[in-house]
Amino acid sequence: MVHLERDLPVVGVDASLSDDLDSPREECGVFGIYAPGEDVATLTYFALYALQHRGQESAGIAVSDGRRLVVHKDMGLVNQVFTETSLAALQGNLAVGHCRYSTTGSSSWGNAQPQYRETPAGGGLALGHNGNLVNTSELARRLDVPPDNDSQLMAALLACDVDVSLEEAITRVAPTLVGAYSVVVMDEQRLHAFRDPNGVRPLQIGRLPAGGWVVASETAALDIVGAVYVRDVEPGEVVTIDDHGLRCRRFAPPTPTFCLFEWVYLARPDHRQDGRSVLYARREMGRQLARESPVDADIVIPVPEAGRDAAAGYAAEAGLPFADGLVKNRYVGRTFIQPTQTLRQLGIKLKLSPVREVVEGRRLVVVDDSIVRGNTSRQLVAMLREAGAAEVHLRITSPPIKNPCYYGIDMASRAELIGADLEEDAIRDFVGADTLHYLTLDGLIATTPQQRDGLCRACFDGAYPIPVPGEHEQLAQIRFDFADTP
Ligand code: SF4
Repeated sequence: MVHLERDLPVVGVDASLSDDLDSPREECGVFGIYAPGEDVATLTYFALYALQHRGQESAGIAVSDGRRLVVHKDMGLVNQVFTETSLAALQGNLAVGHCRYSTTGSSSWGNAQPQYRETPAGGGLALGHNGNLVNTSELARRLDVPPDNDSQLMAALLACDVDVSLEEAITRVAPTLVGAYSVVVMDEQRLHAFRDPNGVRPLQIGRLPAGGWVVASETAALDIVGAVYVRDVEPGEVVTIDDHGLRCRRFAPPTPTFCLFEWVYLARPDHRQDGRSVLYARREMGRQLARESPVDADIVIPVPEAGRDAAAGYAAEAGLPFADGLVKNRYVGRTFIQPTQTLRQLGIKLKLSPVREVVEGRRLVVVDDSIVRGNTSRQLVAMLREAGAAEVHLRITSPPIKNPCYYGIDMASRAELIGADLEEDAIRDFVGADTLHYLTLDGLIATTPQQRDGLCRACFDGAYPIPVPGEHEQLAQIRFDFADTP
């Protein structure tokens, strides 16, 4: 049985005023907990808080007391969707939670997660998904439904395949899914977590002090509920947690290709992956960038927030002072005001302000994580010059983004990516910097604990580890279009 609540109105979110004006947008955060005797809804709420950076469009929690499965979800941030009253109504022994940024399917209440489905046996399941499937058309044909949303399809496939147990259904359905998926899914009695054979997105298991289990996208969510990291859900593995404890099964051999961009931008700095903290890796990115592209300058400043740790690393390696030359307005991210043309023209000024005392008359090294379309970097450089910067040397902690992501990150289409067709010098001229250098792919990989073959690097080098139907045709078409352009 399910009870879907809806307290808040659906709120439109305009991408032009979203949290990161020209950064790739995160995909989703997932959390699951099996802990009889604990306040699982409130623990899930705090975990989603820790994962809020992974998705800000909608949030939801599903809870079961062993007999009845209840879902509460809505549009908005975690603290807009839930109140003390709504959390108090979510009583149970196990829960799954989700915060969403839409990569497939529109930003709507119906697409918010957890996705609920009734099973033919009269029970229910609730599912939260991080990633993106690339064979939704094929899956939709099997169900004879429109291929609107990959997570809805996944929940529907599992629900109609449950004739023995949800665990069995996962081992049958998962091998038919193509793409990136880190999933938490529950029925009335059990929590399950499974991850695609490539393990593109993170998914980690933790243990609570009183003996309960949690599963989360990032270690920050384990930390906030007091859980101790145990291990990752392995690529190609399904983990089931119930009264008998935790057991695991493999549904496909592992072929790990973890997302390299999680290291650069997506994950929180306090996330740990394969024994290394993201913060440490980002410092190393900055150090490596300083070795690869030194410059005669006075001061190093980050583009907050993702550039901060790398800028500190660059400054340390280069022996230059580090300072906050840009201040971020933390409250611009999500607005209820429909943006006017005037607001749009303000662009990056809505989000960042230069500190004149820091930048005036100085030769700046400005460290950022990536350049997507280039417009924001161009505005940023102009803003720093207006504030009196003598020189602006842009340093980027990733290689040029040349290809779109099909595995759950919203990066813009290939035609919009400035790195897809322009060389570094042309991009430097476009953004108006005195110099511009990107970290090399080898330099970036060396900052992670993974080997080159154990990483997805497709947005940088085009080597998609999971075949994307139509990708070659798209690429050929775009090259043809450019060749045709006078
Ligand atoms: S294409 Fe880029 S952003 Fe997407 S999974 Fe691969 S490395 Fe990550």
